[in-house]
Amino acid sequence: LLGRKVLIVYAHQEPKSLNGSLKNVAVEELSKQGCSVTVSDLYAMQFEPRATRNDIVGCLHNPEKFNYGVEVREAYKRGGLSSDVIEEQKKVQEADLLIFQFPLYWLSMPAIMKGWMDRVLVEGFAHQFPDCYSSGYLKNKLALFSFTTGGSQEMYTKGGISGDIRYALWPMQHGIMHYCGVKVLAPHICFGPESVSEEERKEMLLAWAQRLKTLWKEKPIDCSPEWYFK
Ligand code: FAD
Ligand code: ZN
Repeated sequence: LLGRKVLIVYAHQEPKSLNGSLKNVAVEELSKQGCSVTVSDLYAMQFEPRATRNDIVGCLHNPEKFNYGVEVREAYKRGGLSSDVIEEQKKVQEADLLIFQFPLYWLSMPAIMKGWMDRVLVEGFAHQFPDCYSSGYLKNKLALFSFTTGGSQEMYTKGGISGDIRYALWPMQHGIMHYCGVKVLAPHICFGPESVSEEERKEMLLAWAQRLKTLWKEKPIDCSPEWYFK
């Protein structure tokens, strides 16, 4: 929709990967709708995933004993976070929708994307207990996890060897996004793109483009334990 802002946080090393193609489809389709789209291409940016002392510019709140959470909270208040983190926070602040595009790594997101979560969603910016979940500071934003797997859809069922894919979504969707107040749209999952035909991969890309056409009409999921573990 005209004027809607989308941030795509993208984690794949190879532009010619299926993740790269899925990201391109989203940029194309959302731009066509009149949305303004920003991409954080984490590997291309060589995004720093480690939460360290370097994230604080200037003096520490307590130089005697380093506590990362306390230090970044205090640094955020005085505008003393490192510039790469501030950049990402600005992009998040402006966005109506965050799309996370990545290959599933160990039932989770790649380390570089987890590092983005760790470093960008700072206390005071994204949440501040008890301002979490429905009162998290990023309320009125939407998030969508779009990812690929190595395993097949049947492996990722309740009775399958890998368990319901929703179990993997609990930390990402509920533990991170919902915690920060973000409403979560249904995930978009491409199962086992490496084990299917070229034709089926083309269909996966078409299905994503198709979904994006009516994305703004979608209602968020009911992000409660029942959605994941019922
Ligand atoms: P790619 O191999 O890049 O793409 C698949 C194919 O699509 C390629 O042949 C590519 O050329 C083709 N393609 C690209 N663009 C197009 C296009 N426009 N049209 C048609 N074809 C196209 N999997 C799990 O299920 N669970 C795990 O816990 C898990 N942990 C992992 C941990 C690590 C460290 C690693 C490295 C992998 C893990 N995997 C796991 C597997 C991983 O999730 C898959 O390898 C990945 O999701 C595949 O996506 P891709 O984009 O990298 O595929
Ligand atoms: Zn939730």
